[in-house]
Amino acid sequence: MVSRKSIASVLDDYEDLVVATVCSHSSLQIFHGARQEGFRTLGIAIGERPRFYDAFPLAKPDEFLLVDSYADILDRADDPFGNREVLRWETDREKQREWLTSAGVSMPAKIERPQDIDRPVFVKYYGAKGGRGAFIAKNYEDFKESIRPGMKYTIQEYVVGTRYYIHYFYSPLATNGYALSKGALEMLGVDRRDEANIDEMYKLGAQEALRKIDMRPTFVVTGNMPVVLRESLLPKAFEMGERAVERSIALFGGMIGPFCLETIVTDRLEFKVFEISTRIVAGTNLFIAGSPYSDLTEPGMSTGRRIAREIRTAQKQGRLSEVLS
Ligand code: AMP
Repeated sequence: MVSRKSIASVLDDYEDLVVATVCSHSSLQIFHGARQEGFRTLGIAIGERPRFYDAFPLAKPDEFLLVDSYADILDRADDPFGNREVLRWETDREKQREWLTSAGVSMPAKIERPQDIDRPVFVKYYGAKGGRGAFIAKNYEDFKESIRPGMKYTIQEYVVGTRYYIHYFYSPLATNGYALSKGALEMLGVDRRDEANIDEMYKLGAQEALRKIDMRPTFVVTGNMPVVLRESLLPKAFEMGERAVERSIALFGGMIGPFCLETIVTDRLEFKVFEISTRIVAGTNLFIAGSPYSDLTEPGMSTGRRIAREIRTAQKQGRLSEVLS
C-alpha cells in the first residue's frame, strides 16, 4: 500500500501536469480554463475522436485518449481533482440528507411512507440522473398509479417556489475572501435548468386532464439559463454553502473545489435545498467568460478555469496532495 505521504511527494515532483477530462458535460469550459492557466489538456472519449471540438479551437484538447468504455477511464483515473470520499456522501440520498440537515441546511421535508402523503410530493428514484423518472403525486392514489415496482425511491414534499442552482467553489488553499475555518468559499454563478417536458406542459392545460391522455410530467434537463439572485438572498446563499463545507470537513475531510446547491426559494424568501452536486455542474457552462459574481472576484473566471487555477496554486505551493485525491 502506498502511504499518503509518499503520494504527496510523488505529486509534488510532477512538473508537467496535464488536465484531462471526459469529452462531455462541461469539457469545453474545463479545457478552455486549463489552457488559460497554461496546462496541456487531454480529452478522453469513447470510441472515436469527437468532431465538435474542431468548431471550438480555444477549447479543443491538445490530445485525445480513446477508450472502449467509461469503466476503462475509472481504471486509469489516478489523481482526480477533489476529495473522492465525497462520492459516498453524494450518491446515497440518505447520506446526503444526513450531511445537509446535520449542517443546518434546510431541505424539503421527507415523507417516510407513501401512505402518509398528505400534500403534493415529489418522488425520486435512487441513482436517477437529470430528473428522469421522477414524478409528482398529490395523494397515495397518485403515488400507486405512477410508482415503478422494484425501484428504490424517496419522497419529498413538493416545494412551490423558484429554482436556483448556485455554483460555489471551495478552496482549502485560499487565504483571503469569504473565509471559512480553513480556506475560503467563492460563488461563481447561478443558473436555472430548462426541464422537458414539465416546463412547457402548462400550455396544454391541467395535469389531471393530461393524465387522461397519458401525458405525464418529466424533468429531463435540456439546457440552462443564467440568473442572478435577489441581492438580499446572498448572505443566506453564502451561509448555506459555508455550512455544507464546514460539515463536510468534519464528516469526511472536506469537499474540495466546485459544488452546487440545488435550491427552491419560497415566497417567504426561504431556501430549501433539494440536492447537492459535489462537482462542476453543467449550468456553469453559461459562464465561460465570467459571471456577474466572478466579475467581482476576477473578471473572466469560469469554474473550469478556477479548477485549473487551484491546481496551479497547489503545485506552486507544493500542496497538490491537498486538492487531488
Ligand atoms: P433531482 O432529481 O433532485 O435533480 O430533481 C429534478 C428536478 O425536480 C429539479 O430540477 C426540480 O425541478 C424538481 N424537484 C426536485 N425536488 C423537488 C422538490 N422537493 N420540490 C419541487 N420540485 C423538485
